[in-house]
Amino acid sequence: MKTTFTILGCGSSLGVPRADGHWGKCSKKNIKNFRTRCSALITKGENNILIDTSPDLRHQLLKNNTKNIDSVIYTHMHGDQTHGINDLRTFSIKNKKKVDVYANKQTLFYLKKSFNYCFFGTQEHRPILKPNLVKKNLLLGQGVEKIKIKSILVKHGMINCVAYIVNKLAYISDCNFLSKSNLKDLKGLKFLVIDCLRLNPHPSHFNLYSVLELVEIIKPSKTILTNLHSDLDYDFLMKKTPKNIKPAYDGLKINI
Ligand SMILES: [Zn+2]
Repeated sequence: MKTTFTILGCGSSLGVPRADGHWGKCSKKNIKNFRTRCSALITKGENNILIDTSPDLRHQLLKNNTKNIDSVIYTHMHGDQTHGINDLRTFSIKNKKKVDVYANKQTLFYLKKSFNYCFFGTQEHRPILKPNLVKKNLLLGQGVEKIKIKSILVKHGMINCVAYIVNKLAYISDCNFLSKSNLKDLKGLKFLVIDCLRLNPHPSHFNLYSVLELVEIIKPSKTILTNLHSDLDYDFLMKKTPKNIKPAYDGLKINI
């Protein structure tokens, strides 16, 4: 049974263009520069595992014709990864049960505090989400098409971000440093989907030059750049990077 990894969104925290129509250095003529906030979907048979609930989640699920979500795995607590959480109500109502969400301690604390009604309900509404602590190894989904996912902790500025490895693909959406132990976990990858915010250094994200250096160390067969800010135009990146490194675009599907 084939497993597909879909990049639902590959934009940085404010998206491209921003809400005020600012495109930065990105050409508005190329649809691949229209970037919603980062999230991804792992699909195997009937099973759909969502990575993060970006503020653009409803739009992303409609665009990718996603009829159901089995569970959600979170990378970290920032607004661009979590603030679309309310759209999970659809799947709680549809399946008449709470949606399982997996996250580390810090992210679960933030989610429960900020979106209290989702976990504890209100006088008028039942709770819609079941919190679970993310484990090193996860087996998610239903039936014979369950999906095996490995999680590792990476540095994202002052906080930790959970990176996920499925088959031979690693998804590291927000990161500025990989430890020796991380590098060991990332050996033998076919696909590395990695944070590449912009050209200049940033305290909590990799930039284009740090990613180019990393690729030399990790040596994945193919690298896909995500979390792209408005100073990184799609065609500019295609010209600037070797053949095995490509910018992501919303809706990009990878067979893994
Ligand atoms: Zn972040």
